[in-house]
Amino acid sequence: MRILILGGTAEARHLAGLLARRAEFSTILSLAGRTAAPAGQPVPVRVGGFGGAAGLAGYLETERVDVLIDATHPYAATISANAARAAALAGRPLLALRRPPWVAIEGDRWIEVGDAVEAVQTLGEAPRAVFLALGRQEIAPFTAAPQHRYLVRSVDPVEPRLSVPHAIYITARGPFAEADERALLARHGIDAIVAKNSGGEASYGKIAAARALGVPVVMLRRPSPDDGGGRRTEDGRNWDVGHRDPSAVVATVAEAMSWLNHALASFRRRTTVDGERIA
Ligand code: NAP
Repeated sequence: MRILILGGTAEARHLAGLLARRAEFSTILSLAGRTAAPAGQPVPVRVGGFGGAAGLAGYLETERVDVLIDATHPYAATISANAARAAALAGRPLLALRRPPWVAIEGDRWIEVGDAVEAVQTLGEAPRAVFLALGRQEIAPFTAAPQHRYLVRSVDPVEPRLSVPHAIYITARGPFAEADERALLARHGIDAIVAKNSGGEASYGKIAAARALGVPVVMLRRPSPDDGGGRRTEDGRNWDVGHRDPSAVVATVAEAMSWLNHALASFRRRTTVDGERIA
């Protein structure tokens, strides 16, 4: 069974690793190409956009992909919407692997905002020491608040740099342990963090560290899967413009494997002995 995983996340890599060990699955992992030296992957990789939903649908057909898996980051709304439309256009099942968001617990001081512009307003006028734990493409709005001192962490170097007088740049790739994050916040005297609610373990260290140190977190709200350009019909049940909900939405790699094992069984029932698709 041929599988295309839309990746760029630890879960996508993990799932690809499990599938690589199974001869029944032939897997391709797709990356957007945002990082200069992405982590090694256990299956063949293709890199770069498809040219929208229609391009992705064409790829599914040309490459005879049987199942599309959207294992992209929860803030990558455009590609998730494209995946839903492409699956509908090409008539392929879509499995969405969506990491559940973190939930605030006692001691957390979160302020939820809609986007980076609102985060800038929330930081206020008084100068602060702010840890920007956002992607390097998302930090430009903070030039509007040059009174703050910024600590910017990204996988690849930030180019161009923010036009603010006080910014320190560090490059690092997760996972980040809570103790290291606590030391980082203390070393730079951080009194506010701006972050995304990514969910998962790899980047939770800063959230736990902020709680321990009483540092507020300005948390960018997750985009809904509808924010990628799709629209719902008035009854709210079906996507229009050829969009449809995923065949299944799972929260973990183990659940994704279990869904794929079931899909494999029905896929085999629908194929002839020599492997030609009959349905
Ligand atoms: P996006 O805004 O949803 O996507 C923008 C465009 O990038 C898409 O329309 C698509 O181009 C292309 N694209 C995105 N993901 C792709 C993939 N896996 N394979 C091939 N093309 C892809 O996405 P984004 O926020 O820029 O994120 C890009 C990638 O980085 C995703 O794979 C995501 O999992 C990963 N990532 C994102 C974040 C985040 O916070 N956004 C964080 C960590 C990792 P076409 O329309 O031309 O096909």
